[in-house]
Amino acid sequence: SKAKLFDEKTDTRTSFKDVAGLEGAKEEVEEIVEFLKHPDKYTSLGGKIPKGALLVGPPGTGKTLLAKAVAGEAKVPFFSLSGSDFVEMFVGVGASRVRDLFKQAKDKAPAIIFIDEIDAIGRARGKNNFTGSNDERENTLNQLLTEMDGFGTNTNVIVLAATNRADVLDKALMRAGRFDRQIYVDLPDIRERKEIFEVHLRPIKTAETLDLDFLARQTPGFSGADIANVCNEAALIAARKEKKAVTKQDFLDAVDRIVGGLEKKNKIIT
Ligand code: ATP
Repeated sequence: SKAKLFDEKTDTRTSFKDVAGLEGAKEEVEEIVEFLKHPDKYTSLGGKIPKGALLVGPPGTGKTLLAKAVAGEAKVPFFSLSGSDFVEMFVGVGASRVRDLFKQAKDKAPAIIFIDEIDAIGRARGKNNFTGSNDERENTLNQLLTEMDGFGTNTNVIVLAATNRADVLDKALMRAGRFDRQIYVDLPDIRERKEIFEVHLRPIKTAETLDLDFLARQTPGFSGADIANVCNEAALIAARKEKKAVTKQDFLDAVDRIVGGLEKKNKIIT
């Protein structure tokens, strides 16, 4: 297929400055940056560097962004794949893709492997197994576990995986030496929404000094991705009206539009 299953790039452009809020999660991943930069320091007393951490939280809250920022801050290559790419894959393909990915990362170590939507492959085995189409998913999961158990303590590849359904994951994934750390990435509170607006307003030409507290108050329940969307939408709305800069009203119109979209997405179709 044309879908790019993983891409490797030394993403030195994403940094912690791009990640607003999420103080607790950032603190936890800062430690991972340190492990990647100075592995010898941490293993000198016989300690083992963790192989993996699970980023858990609702969609659009910055899990992928945070993983990229870890790679960017540590200046190591970022290899990624998404669990959803493995759905309906031919027998053997998923497992061999996992094997290839780990091989490439080990060759370029120190490195980060990021697995988005790990629940698509990491669901508890033997459940929802009515169709038989889960066999390949299980092979893929088994390969992932084998790879993680396979690296030595000095491989210096750290696997970050993201999910919004930690509850459905196979417990084998969380065992010691695998994804034994969980990092919570929650929806932003009002103060964090303000900070996310600050980040995403950087490239936008605004007409007035915007009241960011006001915008943060208008957007309860919005994720970081939703806020990024509001900023972009506001710029497009203003441009369509051939304005020279984006106004508060454009932001409010954008919020309305995003709220409309969210309502549609959550509507149960009967
Ligand atoms: P999903 O679970 O849907 O994959 P995710 O948690 O991985 O979502 P990201 O893909 O990292 O979310 O977020 C999408 C975009 O939203 C980011 O590229 C960024 O533009 C914006 N965003 C999300 N959270 C934040 C944040 N905390 N600070 C700044 N921008 C954010």
